[in-house]
Amino acid sequence: MSKLKIVPLNFGASGQRAPHPIDCEVLRSKRKTLAIYISHKKVVVRCPMRASRTEVENFIHSNQQWIEKRLIEESMRDKEALRIGKGGKIFYRARELTIVYKEGRKQRVLIRGNQFIIQGHKLNAAKAKIQVEDYLIDKASEYLLPRAIGLAKYLGVDHKIKEIKLRKTKSKWGHCTSQGILQYNWLIMLAPYSIIDYMITHEVCHLVHMDHSKRYWNLVDSICPNAEHYIDWLKTHEHRFWF
Ligand SMILES: [Zn+2]
Repeated sequence: MSKLKIVPLNFGASGQRAPHPIDCEVLRSKRKTLAIYISHKKVVVRCPMRASRTEVENFIHSNQQWIEKRLIEESMRDKEALRIGKGGKIFYRARELTIVYKEGRKQRVLIRGNQFIIQGHKLNAAKAKIQVEDYLIDKASEYLLPRAIGLAKYLGVDHKIKEIKLRKTKSKWGHCTSQGILQYNWLIMLAPYSIIDYMITHEVCHLVHMDHSKRYWNLVDSICPNAEHYIDWLKTHEHRFWF
């Protein structure tokens, strides 16, 4: 792997310039073509073993606009990422709420108007984070589990369920194995109910069809019409849910 620094790119339509030369990681392999990926604010170029430095640089410059667009998108997403703390913003059920701490012996989370109130004793960011996690896990057990089982019963496949796991995963919302283990990411409880219901449907329908075939999507559509709308919504907003 070699590292290549390139001159600051013109950072988007705003005319803003990237503050530093952008680091490009060059990964050489047996591949035949060049390709660019953006990952964690870094530009990664994959290229054939013999590609020259000029070739790589030219390739980067010819994709400059795309790189800039992606870097801007990534930095905007990063700004919107959820940080649990007093005065912070939380995107809850498609509304932006302000996080408020409330002193009290009883630990709970309350939604009042535009406030996401975390109540606890001598709260700090670490404690508040744990409380929000517990709150979402509780909500997922209350809401998601019975609905997943109910839908599986309706489809006549409840006997196939071995276990339903609630787990915070790095990037996935749900998972279903051929052994009948359903898994849901409890962060989904920050999303509107329509999105949660779509995710429930998505995994339970895999108990009928273990693929993403036409008949699978027809089944999803018969329970949750316009699934593509929910998929799009998640793609646009999911970066605001991880904390
Ligand atoms: Zn799937």
